[in-house]
Amino acid sequence: MAFDDGPQTCAICHGPLRLENCVTDEQGHAVHGSCYLSAVSKVKRTKYDETEELLQQARELREIAERLTKKSDALIAAYNNLMGLLKSPKIDKRMVD
Ligand SMILES: [Zn+2]
Repeated sequence: MAFDDGPQTCAICHGPLRLENCVTDEQGHAVHGSCYLSAVSKVKRTKYDETEELLQQARELREIAERLTKKSDALIAAYNNLMGLLKSPKIDKRMVD
């Protein structure tokens, strides 16, 4: 880690940095190890929450899809029932006559 351009400050909390507790973040900024860890865990936490939220949405959509499938099954059954009635032998005979 280069400390040749004067006193370094943490890119996260802007406090003075010491070599012994200094790390480099993804952008190459010198930061406190503890600041970096809390920043990273915050990002991970956010990603985790986002993923959980997406999963929850997916579950809700599946529930809706299942409900719609059942509903459409019922509609198809009702349709088949009606068609069955229309094609009942009585009506067929009448149509032939
Ligand atoms: Zn810091």
